[in-house]
Amino acid sequence: MPLTQFVVKMHSRCDLACDHCYVYEHADSSWRSRPKVIGDGILAKAAERIGEHAVAHRLSAVRVVLHGGEPLLAGPDRLRRAAEALRAALPPGCSLDLRIHTNGVLLSEAFCALFAELDLKVGISLDGDKVANDRHRRFADGRSSHPQVLRAVALLNRPEYRHLYAGLLCTIDIENDPVAVYRALAELQPPAVDFLLPHATWEEPPKRLPGGSADTPYADWLLAVHRLWEADRRPFAVRTFESVHRTVRGLSSLTESLGLEPSDLAVLETDGTFEQADSLKTAYDGAPVTGMNVFAHSLDDLARHPGIAARQSGLAGLSATCRACPVVRACGGGLYAHRYRADNAFDNPSVYCGDLMTLINGIAGSGGSTAGSPSGAAPVPAQGGEPLLSAPLTPAQLGELARGYGGADTVAALGTSQLSLTRAMLAAAWDASGQGRAEAWELLSELDVAAPAAVDAVLGHPYARAWAARRLAGDLSVGLGPMAALAAAAAVRAGRGDAVAVPARGRGLYLPTLGWVGVPDGEAVVTGRADGPTVRAADGSVRTGLDRAVRRVRLAGGWTVALEDLDPLRDSHDHPVAERLPEAELLGWTGALREAWELLGRDLPGYAEGIRAGLGTVTPLRPGPAGRDVSSAARQAYGAVGIARPATAPTLALLLAHEFQHVKLGAVLDLFDLYDRADDRLYFAPWRPDPRPLEGLLQGTYAHLAVTEYWGTRTAAYDGLAGEAADRARAQFALWRRYTAEAVERLAGSGALTGLGLRFAEGMGESVAPWLAVALPAAAERDAERARRESPAEV
Ligand code: SF4
Repeated sequence: MPLTQFVVKMHSRCDLACDHCYVYEHADSSWRSRPKVIGDGILAKAAERIGEHAVAHRLSAVRVVLHGGEPLLAGPDRLRRAAEALRAALPPGCSLDLRIHTNGVLLSEAFCALFAELDLKVGISLDGDKVANDRHRRFADGRSSHPQVLRAVALLNRPEYRHLYAGLLCTIDIENDPVAVYRALAELQPPAVDFLLPHATWEEPPKRLPGGSADTPYADWLLAVHRLWEADRRPFAVRTFESVHRTVRGLSSLTESLGLEPSDLAVLETDGTFEQADSLKTAYDGAPVTGMNVFAHSLDDLARHPGIAARQSGLAGLSATCRACPVVRACGGGLYAHRYRADNAFDNPSVYCGDLMTLINGIAGSGGSTAGSPSGAAPVPAQGGEPLLSAPLTPAQLGELARGYGGADTVAALGTSQLSLTRAMLAAAWDASGQGRAEAWELLSELDVAAPAAVDAVLGHPYARAWAARRLAGDLSVGLGPMAALAAAAAVRAGRGDAVAVPARGRGLYLPTLGWVGVPDGEAVVTGRADGPTVRAADGSVRTGLDRAVRRVRLAGGWTVALEDLDPLRDSHDHPVAERLPEAELLGWTGALREAWELLGRDLPGYAEGIRAGLGTVTPLRPGPAGRDVSSAARQAYGAVGIARPATAPTLALLLAHEFQHVKLGAVLDLFDLYDRADDRLYFAPWRPDPRPLEGLLQGTYAHLAVTEYWGTRTAAYDGLAGEAADRARAQFALWRRYTAEAVERLAGSGALTGLGLRFAEGMGESVAPWLAVALPAAAERDAERARRESPAEV
């Protein structure tokens, strides 16, 4: 892989004495033995090397950053010679993006005039407001450099030089106020700001605030800036933020410190030696050394150096933890240098791992793009109820969910975060497949820009995520076909005539959200047209349209729910699924769903709108033994519930409400830690004979909030009436309110809930309390007590 970015050290000393500088203040001390200024012979040879590399690899552009130390110390003449040599050496058709990174202290009008002549753009290091900048960026005698830097930026903001102003480089210090830093930088109207994590390794971990309690202070700091930046409508470019937005959509990263793009950067020192990325100076003395120099080695030689090759190997070059990480596509294990540990070198996640995870989830979940963390698979789970995926939920919505409810907006917000999670998991599963930018992925990425609604509709299919979850869990038997099928389904929805190869298995292929096309097994090509798919099968035959469409049941109020009986991946509900429904069964389902929906609106109005906003799919399951009711949500299939059609519509209503509670809570648990995931104790739920992990107790309790309210509503409806149905409603209400209240107490007393988990227990308790105050006939309480003693119930 060719190198396209070059850092040329013009001068190895600096006129400032910043105490966070990686050149002078970290493990590597090679600067001491280097010439102060780069020689003209070295510059000429470097230009020649870059030129020959550009010719050999037909490069259309290279970027060269004149760096230091402080490069302005090299003086105007040498800077001119460097720029001219580089421009002269490049072949026609290869453009030069030439920059200089300076502390700004020496930047003068004369320099600016020179840079205008040389078309040399200027980046200035500035850590924020005066307090922030003075914390580190001082002269050796302790004087502030802030006034000089502001003067430099003011020069660049003059109309005649504004086009030279590349932006600001801000090294983060968590002691600095992110708001003050952001405002100070924004005031200087930079075209771009690079926020840089201070260099650190597992040997020299990043600073934490004395007494600070935040687990991810760097992410918190950056997210505070991100919020302001978004509120200001992104007034300047921020590569870190934009890279996350891009990578989670399958596009390339803009910075070496994030993403899986191969590193294509080399460094030339003032003595003509080639080094690896400068940031490695922070790891150990001599870490960036390659043993190569510009006179004896070509840039192809350098690109083959094991250290540089290691940073070009994408996912395969990462630690096992990173390879399994759900945000690896966006994170890429962070900056290579930040992974260093003395005993196993760079085979680690970044020392900023928790911060990177939180940052990526935070940015992705903020609405501009998408990412996520898988259920229970996050290598660095958030602690203390901090969000795993930045919550698009207001405190009021969280309170609503804690009480068991969730209106249309709240559930829609959960759906948005789940779509983000699906996207991230698909990206991670695809990355792990090693297929790179193969046809299906390319098409999906392209449609994501050209027809995002089509892609969202397809990725919103519950079993799209189930495929990714299985792959990420190591189940490779599911193959890559479903990803191609997603791309094909999106192409059909986009209707642009795009074509993609999809493997047919089991004498057909399934296009998520659309339906089934029967074709012989083998590689088929699906062309997506507005009127449906055209499929050219492996034997050359062509079929147009679907053989079996996904059926949707229209419900009162104009919404529809899919009856999913085609997708081979629907088998995600811990119970066998039903085959394609015969017509009579379809009619049975249609009637039962319509009636159940009316009952939900009548008996559970506080739940119904949420169900309508989030329930997209009902997957028919096979009947349970001896007609026992069977239903199940699947944690990795948001928006779907699996149900064996029960005998009556009221039972179906109850099962829908019960299972949708699991769907909601699963989505909440993807956003927040409500309990300590390390807690491995088992807990008895009042309604089950067997003890379960804490999440089981939590899920059951949450589901039974809806069950209890259902029976409470039925009891109220039967007020003053006698009869079997009324007695049953009262007995069920008596039973479930007691069970649910006991379960809430057990949760609250488990000692395993996080702060937010306790708030959820409190919220659930608030819903239960009024039910406990409802007076019931003694017979109902007796019936409940008998039921409780005789057989722990399950609904
Ligand atoms: S967040 Fe952590 S585990 Fe995930 S890729 Fe980044 S460094 Fe690796």
